[in-house]
Amino acid sequence: LTADYRARDAAHHMHPFSDMKALNAEGSRVIVRGEGAWIWDSDGNRILDGMAGLWCVNIGHGRKEIAEAIQRQMAELSYYNAFFKTTHPPAIALAETLARLTPPQFNHVFFVNSGSEANDTVIRMVRHYWATRGKPEKSVLIARHNAYHGSTMGGGSLGGMKPIHEQGGLPIPGIHHIAQPYWFGEGGDTTPEEFGIIAARALETAIEEIGEDKIGAFVAEPIQGAGGVIIPPSTYWPEIARILKDRDILLVADEVITGFGRTGNWFGSETFGIEADLMPIAKGLSSGYLPIGGVMVSDKVADVIIGEGGDFNHGFTYSAHPLAAAAALENLRIIENEKLVERVRDDIGPYLQKKWLALGDHPLVGEARMTGLMGALELVPNKPSRALAFPDTGKVGTIARDFSFRNGLVMRAVRDSLILSPPLTLTHEEADHLIAVASKTLDDTHAEVKR
Ligand code: PLP
Repeated sequence: LTADYRARDAAHHMHPFSDMKALNAEGSRVIVRGEGAWIWDSDGNRILDGMAGLWCVNIGHGRKEIAEAIQRQMAELSYYNAFFKTTHPPAIALAETLARLTPPQFNHVFFVNSGSEANDTVIRMVRHYWATRGKPEKSVLIARHNAYHGSTMGGGSLGGMKPIHEQGGLPIPGIHHIAQPYWFGEGGDTTPEEFGIIAARALETAIEEIGEDKIGAFVAEPIQGAGGVIIPPSTYWPEIARILKDRDILLVADEVITGFGRTGNWFGSETFGIEADLMPIAKGLSSGYLPIGGVMVSDKVADVIIGEGGDFNHGFTYSAHPLAAAAALENLRIIENEKLVERVRDDIGPYLQKKWLALGDHPLVGEARMTGLMGALELVPNKPSRALAFPDTGKVGTIARDFSFRNGLVMRAVRDSLILSPPLTLTHEEADHLIAVASKTLDDTHAEVKR
């Protein structure tokens, strides 16, 4: 069966972010079932999903309540749009729920289908906001190197990843990138606290060079996720706030990964004390059961683009799709009812963090870091030096990731680090198992690298 699946997959299916020639030669892993924190492949192997799908299945796989909520909505109204002066109950209820759960400045949401679309919407909304305020020249958005904001033309442009920019002529005009607060890789001899200030001041320098009168917004993930779980030093976000305080520049916190409990609060903005003007969300909004995203719009921005009137010429056929909205509502109900955010903050978060940070003692690990339930292990050849000095960057990370999968745990490789982001429903026993497999994976990788 697996061989048949693989052959048919190789014949017709182009995977995202994949070298298809290499993948077809190796054969895809065929995932056939999911329940809780576990997935099963077509050979019957049970694997712990340490990535919650793609940082999204916050409530775990296979929840019947979501299937039932989607079915109920399907029988009532499976589709309608919000273009024709129309709306529908799931959109109304979801917008209202999001206004309640997000930080207090957010009372409006613009619905989209993905994180990429949310960030494309941000670019257009920021420019529309400033044009409405009579300052269309404030069209530049500053984002960060190594950020990931999606792979559409807009999202890929805001993101700061070279391999994405190199394909398709990105970034689009008006996007500027500054340094990321990556102390482990780029902090040199500084302390993390010193480096947090230095990295934040890259924003001040960029503002002085480009001119405040040209800049519409600064866009950043509270924790850079796909860039390698770059947890900023404690000084970073306060310094960004100081820099933006008396300047007329919008702050956009991309919470596509860090939202919905991942960092131990509802939003990463709360974990780091960020007061954003716009907030892209997706992934954990529906725990991936159906595609849906949004941009949370603060009163400051809504007062202009709603208050001043005029069309915002933007939207999608499936903005606020009733089935996706129903799935999201049920997902949020589960997160609230089961107190999953509090669980990450007070229970499973600290429990897993302690064991994960202890993996930092392994001879292959230069740094273990984790906030809430998102973490990274930096693999290095010459501990205790922080130099990211494996000769062929990414090779050791890939070896480790493949060992992990074979050992029964999904982790992701970013350069030579291993990334973890399990469902928020992870039990203590599953956490123990996860750490045992991660530890064995480090041993296997270490033995392989030394050969
Ligand atoms: N923004 C962030 C911070 C992300 O991590 C991602 C995806 O990983 C996106 C945006 C893009 O989301 P999507 O893949 O749903 O388009």
